[in-house]
Amino acid sequence: MNIDKILEYQKVDMEFMKLEDEMRTSDIAKKLIAYQGERKRAVEEVKRLNLIAEELFGNFENVSSSYEKITKEIDEIQKNIGESTADDILDFYSKRLDQCVALLDGHEKELDRIITELSRAKSTFEAEMENANKAAALEKTYMVKFEEMKKSKMEDAKRIDAERKEIAKQVDEELMRIYLDYKKRGKRPVFVPYLAESHACSCGVEVNAGVRGKMDNGELYCECPNCGRIMYNKK
Ligand SMILES: [Zn+2]
Repeated sequence: MNIDKILEYQKVDMEFMKLEDEMRTSDIAKKLIAYQGERKRAVEEVKRLNLIAEELFGNFENVSSSYEKITKEIDEIQKNIGESTADDILDFYSKRLDQCVALLDGHEKELDRIITELSRAKSTFEAEMENANKAAALEKTYMVKFEEMKKSKMEDAKRIDAERKEIAKQVDEELMRIYLDYKKRGKRPVFVPYLAESHACSCGVEVNAGVRGKMDNGELYCECPNCGRIMYNKK
């Protein structure tokens, strides 16, 4: 078993990952994601304000129609009162009129409150619409920049990927399996040299006697008990 080819593969694979990282962590990608988020947030807010406005309009209509009914009732009562109206009936109407006036008063306050809330919702709505539009425009700009960046990196990516595939053909199957498995678990790099002079892994931690014995006896590779990567014996 030869370790050289997997090391070669790892080197090229790391180059490829670096390219991916550069794309993902670029200022352009970060801004693109931020503006996407801002647009989505503002759009959700606009939807929510729309629902609130609809509800307020509904309330406004209900209160208005009730207001009208009471006004009509007052008109009716006034028509029914004359010089010949009996005292007990006058008393009844008078009490009802007091109730109607109190109701109208309450309705007016309610209508004022609804109008204030509607105007507040309207200005927030307008501000959020503007936010959504601004974010959408910036998102578009950064999407174009991102695509340009992707295109410029694509050539490198293709070249590295081809190189990677070519080397992969020559890598020992078992070593490739280990490499892919450890890579999936976030080990970067997977294979690191064993430092025989200090009996340590490249992570700097001296290995225990068991592992040390194996490595000093020329074992090709062994997992580091500290960082969990694969130490290999340099030639
Ligand atoms: Zn280690």
